Amino acid sequence: MLRLFRSQTLFAPAMLFLGLLLTGFILQLFQKPDLTVYEGTYPGIRAPIEPEVVFEDDAVTLIFDTPVSTTQIVVFAYDDQGRQYGTLKTIRDGAVRITGDDYPEYLAFFKGPAVEGYKIFRRVNGKADVTNFLTLIRTARANGLRFGVQQCMYPVCTRCLEVCPVISKGVIQMNQAKNGAIVPSVIYGNCPRSGKCFTVCTLGAFYKADLRHTLANLPDLYQLETVIQPRVIQ
Ligand code: SF4
Repeated sequence: MLRLFRSQTLFAPAMLFLGLLLTGFILQLFQKPDLTVYEGTYPGIRAPIEPEVVFEDDAVTLIFDTPVSTTQIVVFAYDDQGRQYGTLKTIRDGAVRITGDDYPEYLAFFKGPAVEGYKIFRRVNGKADVTNFLTLIRTARANGLRFGVQQCMYPVCTRCLEVCPVISKGVIQMNQAKNGAIVPSVIYGNCPRSGKCFTVCTLGAFYKADLRHTLANLPDLYQLETVIQPRVIQ
């Protein structure tokens, strides 16, 4: 009688325990892989843009086959010292036109892929005390140096660097891509997903990506190794 009472007393908790185990097991079967979702999103970085470049007697026209996300874009050209000149242009009818009246806004120097320093040119009556941009881009082409477009306006613009709450950890870095464009790159492991960089970036170099998951599950991001050359048309 006593043995029966004991076995009945133990039977209910044992069944409850087994039930819980089974429920846990079934729940695990239906669970998705470990995708931790955070409140904020990581910034996305736009892939390089490849314009069609038409060299004419008095101008150079850069034509965009696919729509660009902003109305302005930076045109760049390298000199024989590996320095990048850049000028900000407005896109009209899907193209940008460089004439003898265009002057560079800045000159950037590099150490490895990273921007090491820069000079901003002051303009007086629209002109800067430097070679005009038409000559710079023609010289780059004649000497087999890189030229093209980029969506980042660094070093004239530094907004994302100013608003990033953890910039002291080097989360955002300005690097040179293989095609010569200056692009921001993000150390995602240190990024707190504050969302501030893509909010302030008016040139669309950063955008709000749907990147909420853990680093292990981030999709392939834009790689700096991407080589895209402008297509030149005489
Ligand atoms: S805010 Fe945008 S355009 Fe300005 S430096 Fe940052 S990435 Fe470049």
